[in-house]
Amino acid sequence: MSETERTVEQQVYENIAARKYTDGYTPGVILVRQLVKAVEELAEALSHCRTAVQYTNLNTFIDEMDRVGQRARALFDNRMVWNLVRLTPGQRAALPEEIADVAIPLDVAAVVLGMDMSAAKLEKSAADVKRGVR
Ligand SMILES: [Mg+2]
Repeated sequence: MSETERTVEQQVYENIAARKYTDGYTPGVILVRQLVKAVEELAEALSHCRTAVQYTNLNTFIDEMDRVGQRARALFDNRMVWNLVRLTPGQRAALPEEIADVAIPLDVAAVVLGMDMSAAKLEKSAADVKRGVR
């Protein structure tokens, strides 16, 4: 496959790898760790969605997600945690469908925002390479 035939996902993966986020991890650990990362980022995105009216169910939920997002960040950064992670073939087999379910609402959000998701992912992940491991 030529450079131009690489999928957006492959190019994003390469940017994440260039940032050293995959170093020393098995593919299964990379997978679970990135799902934890997705929770952190989802909490960040939701933090921009609070309603003006305080104490709504949404705001309470976003506050809870803030705490979960902080836990996700700590977990992501804690190298000791990941040594014990092993996915069974059955667990792994269930994940493509769930990953698609995670991506679909984000695609809908991207359309609502009028953004080119592929371009944004490539641009953001490439720009983050120079930041290295935070
Ligand atoms: Mg972010």
